[in-house]
Amino acid sequence: MFVALTKTNERISLVHSSNVVRDNPPYYCPVCQQEVVMKKGTKRRWHFAHRQSYECSVASAEPETEEHLAGKAELYKWLCSNGISPTIELFLPAIQRRADLFFTYRNQKYAIEFQCASISEKEALERTKDYLSEYIIPLWIFSSQRIRSLQPEPSRFSIHSFEWIGLRERHHDHQRALTYFSPSSSTFYFLFPQAVLTSTTTFADLYSLAAVNTGLSLIIRLPATINGSRDWRKSWLYKKKQWRYKRNDWRNHKDKYYARRLFASLRSDIPYFPGEAGWPVNGMEYVETSTHLWQSVFLLQLLTTIPLYHSFSWRTVVEAFSPIMSSQFTTRSLPLITNPLENSILGYLELLQKMKILHQTTTGWIRTEQIYLPRSLDEGFEMDKKRYRSIF
Ligand SMILES: [Zn+2]
Repeated sequence: MFVALTKTNERISLVHSSNVVRDNPPYYCPVCQQEVVMKKGTKRRWHFAHRQSYECSVASAEPETEEHLAGKAELYKWLCSNGISPTIELFLPAIQRRADLFFTYRNQKYAIEFQCASISEKEALERTKDYLSEYIIPLWIFSSQRIRSLQPEPSRFSIHSFEWIGLRERHHDHQRALTYFSPSSSTFYFLFPQAVLTSTTTFADLYSLAAVNTGLSLIIRLPATINGSRDWRKSWLYKKKQWRYKRNDWRNHKDKYYARRLFASLRSDIPYFPGEAGWPVNGMEYVETSTHLWQSVFLLQLLTTIPLYHSFSWRTVVEAFSPIMSSQFTTRSLPLITNPLENSILGYLELLQKMKILHQTTTGWIRTEQIYLPRSLDEGFEMDKKRYRSIF
């Protein structure tokens, strides 16, 4: 950590590397009041550390690596250059949290969490909720060393489960992104998921912006982007093929069990899912249950109960489907996204409209096409290919 208290309770910070601070112990941890020592090594920038045997309730959460120190220092400088007066390592007694960087911008309080090490999803969620309970918006900025592109597909990325907690959205179009930062090159990265494959992998567009060209509002609101190449579309079709032909292990999963019962009531089974299910849609980050499963359940449960050419409202859809979504499917906590459940449903309705299964009216939608279950796997995959050509 960069901050400690002196004997006279004065707060001193080592974040300004240009400052030559005279080493005049003792120093104390602002959180636990235990004595800390100034580390003046050459591998890591100068910082304070607890004595090894002592565990501080807050400081132990993140090992103080050079990457973490450098990130805090660079982001501090970047905020200052944006006309902000941030506080580094501000301890918030009410929630027992220490924000890496804390600042106020247009009357809104923000905390930057520069995260290098992996933590549990639970820890990330609790930290986020604690900040929100104090009306502070946490901005999770991950170390760029965490960006893991899965070769040979450069647009396929591995996302650690806790990183999803930091997902934020662009207001005007609900596009979502994770934010990363490289202290060594002073560059921000934005990862916009385009098609979530599994709970830990997604196809995404990655953008970079040099910190000198990045105003604070771009970090808060997320930058405008042009969609990437979508080279991943072929891989998505392959994924559909796997869902059909690969042996399905459905036991012990409540979502598969639920879907399978629904298919059985129609004398069918999961691999014979409709060609209209299992496609990437806006808002899909919320649903961890496999895309072909939740979209099939949506189609079968909802659309089969609404007769052809009958109209239905948004409320009908949400009331019918939200309980299933919450009780039968695995969903992700996205605390920084507004109405994630509703937006995932809306994303799928938009796709069904594009496929001309639904037609939008002033009060809702009309179902204009029948949903068929293929009778063979080959027929199913033919339906997939047909839909593939119409939606991509
Ligand atoms: Zn401490």
